[in-house]
Amino acid sequence: MRSPAPARQVRGRVVLAVGLPGSGKSTWFARRGLHPLSTDLLRLLLDDENGQSQQSHVFGALYGLLRRRLAIGRRLTWVDATNLEPSQRRNFLQMAQEMGYCADAVYFDVPLEVCLERNAARNRCVPLEVMRDFARRLRPPDYSEGYRKIFLVQPNGTLRRLGKK
Ligand code: GDP
Ligand code: MG
Repeated sequence: MRSPAPARQVRGRVVLAVGLPGSGKSTWFARRGLHPLSTDLLRLLLDDENGQSQQSHVFGALYGLLRRRLAIGRRLTWVDATNLEPSQRRNFLQMAQEMGYCADAVYFDVPLEVCLERNAARNRCVPLEVMRDFARRLRPPDYSEGYRKIFLVQPNGTLRRLGKK
């Protein structure tokens, strides 16, 4: 009798941050000494730190870097972007899965009012109407999108894994 085909080994994982501007994503990465692929950084390199005019190049560069990291076998890649909607996250999930990786999500579930306060207090300030539009578009990550694990960032910065419903 034939033994069952071995499950294809996962090469590693891609972890997507999900959260509004001001929800603390970049601070969370920095506190842990992590170096995510970051739209903030790519905006600074390609445009300017407040720029929204080069979105296609910012994301083109982000996908290019991710593809290269996965191609050379990096086992863990963090992505620091707002990743508000499933349609935005799908590109990352697809690339990860096509290249033999799984994807996790880390959700920064911070109330809009708190994000607005923090946003107003910093130099790099997203316009209020854009913040409100982002908040309307935000959909928390869901297992139906294909994540292996979804985590919620707790107020003290630790991660709590969300169970599948
Ligand atoms: P991002 O836009 O999601 O990357 O958010 P940032 O990490 O840039 O944080 C936005 C602002 O909120 C910064 O001024 C941070 O210093 C502040 N901030 C981030 N995390 C926390 C937190 O856990 N508590 C408080 N009080 N402020 C925070
Ligand atoms: Mg940031």
